[in-house]
Amino acid sequence: MKVTNAEIVISAVSQKQYPDDRLPEIALAGRSNVGKSSFINKLISRKSLARTSSKPGKTQTINFYRINESFYFVDVPGYGYAKVSKTEREKWGKMMEEYFINRENLEAVLLITDIRHAPTNDDIMMYDFLKHYELPVIVVATKLDKIPKGKRAQYLKRTINTLQIEKGDVVLPFSSETGEGKEEAWRILSKYIG
Ligand code: GDP
Repeated sequence: MKVTNAEIVISAVSQKQYPDDRLPEIALAGRSNVGKSSFINKLISRKSLARTSSKPGKTQTINFYRINESFYFVDVPGYGYAKVSKTEREKWGKMMEEYFINRENLEAVLLITDIRHAPTNDDIMMYDFLKHYELPVIVVATKLDKIPKGKRAQYLKRTINTLQIEKGDVVLPFSSETGEGKEEAWRILSKYIG
């Protein structure tokens, strides 16, 4: 897809701030610092529309990026950052439920994992949560560039097995560094943003 327009519309902290133009939405979920912002930036060929950071646990907002005025990438706050308080974790849970359970124009969720590591319990919980609510899930195993070519199949298999990926669900190897997987990502997404 040729991206001609990409803009951040809102960093929302509550439901009433979500955009109301009813465009299809593709959400990104994953551990904090896993590479969600880098994925968005790579797909839309912008260096830094989505804010990347080497510091996990940044502000908890749901960021809506409108692309080509035809759909949104929705970056939800990452999980699994040890240093957050119980109160913050509860706030996170409430935000997730508010968005994922009720959002009518949410078409699919990209669950971003780090291919170098076995998916964590949090990753497994997120996958199960999304499946429970019957949301289409595409697992993106990112940071592929960090794995030698000869070992990629083995690492990919570990991701699939640990998450117990259901038949028919896609696991896409990806790198925001090299752009591997980018064309395939757009091909998959085209089904949902029609
Ligand atoms: P977010 O918190 O999930 O949005 O994560 P970011 O996109 O900010 O990425 C966290 C860190 O991982 C940054 O230092 C990125 O440069 C790095 N990173 C993200 N994706 C990749 C990738 O595919 N390959 C490599 N080598 N580094 C990546």
